[in-house]
Amino acid sequence: MTKSVSIFGATGSVGRSTLDLIRQHPDQYEIIALTANGNASELAALAREFSAKVAVVADDSAYEELKRLLAGSSTDAASGAEALNDAAAMGADWTMAAIVGCAGLPPTLEALRCGKTVALANKEALVSAGALMMTEARKAGATLLPVDSEHNAIFQALQGGRIDQVRKITLTASGGPFRTWTREQMASVTPEQAVAHPNWDMGAKISVDSATMMNKGLELIEAHHLFPVGLENIGILVHPQSVIHSMVEYRDCSTLAQLGSPDMRIPIASALAWPERMTTNCKPLDLAEIGRLEFEQPDESRFPATKIARAAITAGGGKPAMLNAANEVAVAAFLGGAVQFLDITEIVTRLLDSYSPPEPAALADIFAIDREARVRTEQLVEELKV
Ligand code: NAD
Ligand code: MG
Repeated sequence: MTKSVSIFGATGSVGRSTLDLIRQHPDQYEIIALTANGNASELAALAREFSAKVAVVADDSAYEELKRLLAGSSTDAASGAEALNDAAAMGADWTMAAIVGCAGLPPTLEALRCGKTVALANKEALVSAGALMMTEARKAGATLLPVDSEHNAIFQALQGGRIDQVRKITLTASGGPFRTWTREQMASVTPEQAVAHPNWDMGAKISVDSATMMNKGLELIEAHHLFPVGLENIGILVHPQSVIHSMVEYRDCSTLAQLGSPDMRIPIASALAWPERMTTNCKPLDLAEIGRLEFEQPDESRFPATKIARAAITAGGGKPAMLNAANEVAVAAFLGGAVQFLDITEIVTRLLDSYSPPEPAALADIFAIDREARVRTEQLVEELKV
């Protein structure tokens, strides 16, 4: 039996890794939809290679090129936000949500509403609209499989017990490229330095998030929605080798962890084949070669992002959506050279302190908060501009 698959964000780091796994088992998967933001040439090549039914660019200005490149193929070309949602509503058996940022929220929600399986890499969607997404998933009977390596590890470790038997969840963190740096040293970090992660090869935005540790802040909120054990029972531990991807401690003091090489294809493979296991050509773990595993407490005075994220989810309401929007804008401003590295968490803090939005009751409220937070953050960026 083949599994029908759609990949949102097919041209990104996670999207490409997913297709790489499918390439290793071509007869087991049938591709329904592949999407990208504006990279029509890569998307068209992938759509042809995998005989996708539909290829969608989010950016309308890339549509003509996509259509031209797909002429004579079996793939329909489409563009825009509505086309993305329509592609999600086609209801593939398995959908990979790997768009970066809150832009991925609408198609991810649409895919959940089909009641099938959604593999979630797009953590920003869950940070902004976690309660809503979890409710929609439950209502539709959809299966949400975490792909983020930590959450996938926790999901796997939870196969060894029940959630009500859990005492503590520990998210591991590499600490990023500046783990041992002082604030003074971090003040003049360049985008190239921030994007160069020591262990993982990822998209630019998440690489910067890893460098500020906001990635771990977003992951804390992500874990809070996926694994209801109470926020106070979710901890963070810095583990520079990125071999233990997270741990679950049960009430009898047994701790279950998932280990593996730092290669996103491993958690993706686990979600793609779930509840089965697939063969991959990833590098098997060689602990003798690695030699030693190290652990240290996170230092929130040098990396305040996890503290900021914990406060945002504790405050609840629209604060996590504000945090995410502010971080997206601040990271883009840093990558574009408009603000400095340490300004990112400073901007997020100032935005969160500046106002409290009304409690979001529906998706439209989340989008309103997201828009408002972006406008206000752009103003903060202007004030701090280098
Ligand atoms: P990426 O930048 O490499 O790729 C992003 C994808 O989304 C691309 O296909 C791009 O075309 C598409 N996209 C970008 N903006 C869009 C928009 N406005 N509308 C529609 N499509 C858009 O990012 P990535 O590193 O693959 O990360 C994707 C998601 O997975 C992020 O949420 C990230 O936090 C999460 N994630 C990534 C990794 C990793 O190793 N890369 C690990 C864990 C979680
Ligand atoms: Mg992660």
